[in-house]
Amino acid sequence: MTRSDAMVTHTGGCHCGRVRFEVTAPARLQVSDCNCSICSKSGYLHLVVPRSRFRIVSGEDWLTTYEFNTRTAKHLFCSVCGIKSFYVPRSYPEGYSVNARCLDEGTVEEMTVVATDGKNWEKTHAAGHGKPRD
Ligand SMILES: [Zn+2]
Repeated sequence: MTRSDAMVTHTGGCHCGRVRFEVTAPARLQVSDCNCSICSKSGYLHLVVPRSRFRIVSGEDWLTTYEFNTRTAKHLFCSVCGIKSFYVPRSYPEGYSVNARCLDEGTVEEMTVVATDGKNWEKTHAAGHGKPRD
């Protein structure tokens, strides 16, 4: 395992600090910038991980769920500050997509942003919001 593949525990959360989470992922991240209706409006950067690599530390009771279209995705946002720091994505409902913009400073060595065409979901859905990195 090279240094760039090293897994670290990143922490993060919403703006007001009520919702906090931990995610295990490489120190050098590859994240997806999706152009679908909801991601483009919020500027969400996706870090998709299996459920086993994600843990809610606090604030679960503050989360509100927003659903639309197929209702597969569970858009979870803090009911106090409105920030969606992670959610259950349509492309990978067995896991979580963490908003890379909500990670704390200090553990991310590098972040590569890859564009994802979620706007044309039906055509590109094989790519989805990006597969989890192993
Ligand atoms: Zn909040």
